[in-house]
Amino acid sequence: MEIKQGIGVSPGVVIANAVVLDAEEYRIQHKYVSADETAGELQRLTRGFEASLTEVDMLRDTMARQLGRDIAAIFDFHHNILSQNRLRDEISALITTNNYSAAYATRDICHGYQQRFLQMEDLLLRERVRDIRDIERRLLRHLSGHGGEDLYELAGSKILIAHDLTPSQSAHLAQTRVAGVAMDAGGLTSHTAIVVRSMGIPAVMGLNNISQVALEDDTVILDGTKGLVIVRPNEDMLAEYRVEEKRMQDLASDLITLRDKPAVTQDGVEVTLLSNIEFPYESKTSLDKGAQGIGLYRTEFLYLRSEEEPTEDEHYQAYHAVIKSMGDKPVTIRTLDLGADKYTKSQSREPERNPFLGLRSIRYCLQNLEPFKVQLRAILRASVEGDVRIMFPLISGLMELRQAKMALGDAMEDLEEKDIPFRRDIPIGIMVETPAAALQIRELMREVSFVSIGTNDLIQYTLAVDRGNERVAPLYTASHPSVLRTLRDIIRKADHAKVPCSLCGEMAGEPMYTLLLLGLGLRIFSMAPSDVPEIKKVIRVTTISQAVRVAGRVLRFDTDRQVSNYLRDQTRKISPELL
Ligand code: PEP
Ligand code: MG
Repeated sequence: MEIKQGIGVSPGVVIANAVVLDAEEYRIQHKYVSADETAGELQRLTRGFEASLTEVDMLRDTMARQLGRDIAAIFDFHHNILSQNRLRDEISALITTNNYSAAYATRDICHGYQQRFLQMEDLLLRERVRDIRDIERRLLRHLSGHGGEDLYELAGSKILIAHDLTPSQSAHLAQTRVAGVAMDAGGLTSHTAIVVRSMGIPAVMGLNNISQVALEDDTVILDGTKGLVIVRPNEDMLAEYRVEEKRMQDLASDLITLRDKPAVTQDGVEVTLLSNIEFPYESKTSLDKGAQGIGLYRTEFLYLRSEEEPTEDEHYQAYHAVIKSMGDKPVTIRTLDLGADKYTKSQSREPERNPFLGLRSIRYCLQNLEPFKVQLRAILRASVEGDVRIMFPLISGLMELRQAKMALGDAMEDLEEKDIPFRRDIPIGIMVETPAAALQIRELMREVSFVSIGTNDLIQYTLAVDRGNERVAPLYTASHPSVLRTLRDIIRKADHAKVPCSLCGEMAGEPMYTLLLLGLGLRIFSMAPSDVPEIKKVIRVTTISQAVRVAGRVLRFDTDRQVSNYLRDQTRKISPELL
């Protein structure tokens, strides 16, 4: 038995046999061809490019239908490389001048590109190596007469084990029946992670050498919730996980029945459950899970999918798609939150010494007003199509809020000049993510229609702990008494000022904090769509008076450990199946 710990990128438990995808290299039969064979090689190359392009376009269409245009855009780069002449011309030149075979010339040129991309400082460009490798494999497959994509042939419900998946292989997952995915490479925000999460396939990544540890047909336990993969488990482990697998399945079917039921406590207090999304297609998942609207639409993902800045129309199309699928439910669009851990191409060229304390989020937008206004105009245009709200991230003072509003005013004028309709009184809100905003919340609330507490950042800035640094990960906790007092104060002041206050950090989707947050007075929660049913379940089995008692007790504890232990105990008492 071998137990490997990685990063759980898509939750759920599965037990199945392994199918190990080897890092396949196509064997190239001949390096050289005779002079009179070069014409044939050139024709073969042209056919290889044509077949590859057709395949990529088909993949892009299928993906767009199944997962939305944003994810399908992964293949724009492949389409461009295969349809423009540059790569083909360079390969053709090698065939003609060196008498290389088409396959050998293809490998030679593609490897050259991979080396050049690998040496680039720009992180996004370096990641292009995987795309070039993908294009090379596809071309070589056609040049060597191999048939269809390898993943199509995956039979039965297996756990797919691989070193890494190319973007096209992850796209193919949608057509296979894989039960789980385990990879050496990858992390939470990789393409593959996004795809498997959206398809609900449990997955663990960042396992280093799982593709060497697991052999074809080995029994494997994959726990995407805990980020564990157990290869060749012993009987005890297998028995334990069979119970866990069954429990998760029962819980999932139990939670589905809650979808259309209200999030109301036993003593009749209604709570609003919203969802956080990154891509338009997730609005459908949000509705399927019973969310009552979108509390946080992280629009910066529009930027990260492509090398070009999105146009006003691309912004608009994305917002329009979400608003249309949500009907009359609220859609809160957060303006660009770039910087820190989410870089555009141009930002990544100028690394900062302390990026989380640097030019990120609203600060970046206020120094780059043109792209900011492009986004604001698109949101305003979409504002007449539904219940749209606009939210500014990382506000740390009044001047910043006023400047952001001025930019919004400018965007309104631009539209007025062109007679384009928009909602002038669109509700404006801010995220409370800095201690500065929390301490000045009263003044800020006089100038906004709503606030949303972003605990992911608020915790890191309150505790001075980088939220993405695994070396200090144990210090990063929502249970710290200082964080809890800050939350109490924000919620209390919002209540006095009668300003709607939601919480949209990960904490909102963790069942162990639901009682506490209810007890502190929170009535609007926004979380990943998949978390909505569990949180609804906790709300439906408790009373506000019980939650107030729990919160009162928690606020008297001195350490985060006491807080976490107590909250876990209390949640287990009312909803044992969730923890
Ligand atoms: C937060 O900081 O809590 C938040 C919701 O924003 P993000 O995770 O996108 O920084
Ligand atoms: Mg944030």
